Amino acid sequence: MLITRFAPSPTGRLHLGHAYSAVVGHALARESGGKFLLRIEDLDATRSRSEFVDGIYDDLGWLGLDWDEPVFVQSQRTAAYGAALDALKRQGLAFACFCTRADVAQSLTAPHGDAATSYPGTCRNLPDDPGRRATMPHCWRLNSAKSLEIAGLPSWSETDGQHFVADPREIGDAILARKDAPASYHLSCVVDDAASGVTTVVRGADLRASTPAQRLLQQLLGLPEPTYLHHPLVAHADGRRLAKRDLAPTLAAMREHGIDGRALAARLLDRELPLGFTFIEA
Ligand code: GLU
Repeated sequence: MLITRFAPSPTGRLHLGHAYSAVVGHALARESGGKFLLRIEDLDATRSRSEFVDGIYDDLGWLGLDWDEPVFVQSQRTAAYGAALDALKRQGLAFACFCTRADVAQSLTAPHGDAATSYPGTCRNLPDDPGRRATMPHCWRLNSAKSLEIAGLPSWSETDGQHFVADPREIGDAILARKDAPASYHLSCVVDDAASGVTTVVRGADLRASTPAQRLLQQLLGLPEPTYLHHPLVAHADGRRLAKRDLAPTLAAMREHGIDGRALAARLLDRELPLGFTFIEA
């Protein structure tokens, strides 16, 4: 059975891009008699707000999208993430990192290096030190070199039949958990996709960059391999991406303007966007 999911973070109101993602995932599931699941990705305690969780339910209802199974709420699943992190530690694939965000940024040679993938390896092979052992690490990271040695290069297929093989530089020593978060996006995503039986990961093309690390984690944790559908993103007509912080028209605002959510969902499925918006590849 085909199982898709919509996994928004409740850090703002949903916009047209979210609606497109939900509509595509919902249609794919419904067309095949499969299931469409909803997951609330609220592990970022400082930015997640309960009013935005309520907003997600309201917006999906307005679009006429229903979901199956109880909603997965990530803040209630910390035990599952802890077990996955422990499994990686037991295999010697996770290491404690004491660098702050600023340390990592400073040590990068590339001026615009992405700290997520350009971690310079500072703490990867630290000698065991009792003093440090008593210190709380800033985060736990994946030893990507060792992981790739064990698992080989990750690859994945898209629903349109395209096959991708990851470039090791896309992976890096990805963060698995932080002092203030029981799991990173990568770790919680693969644990939850597997636990809820997701067969087809539908999400925006901007998240394709996350797929290599996530596929690697799936292999290391012995989790099933989903198929992926990375869809084009909705942007302003001038090419600017929609962002929660830019005053992207929220679905709530569209609803207040009297727009019919179900009619909008039907148009989105035909890849028709309201005036002023366009699709971009990422
Ligand atoms: N929570 C992520 C977001 O809102 C989506 C994660 C995913 O679909 O894998 O961008």
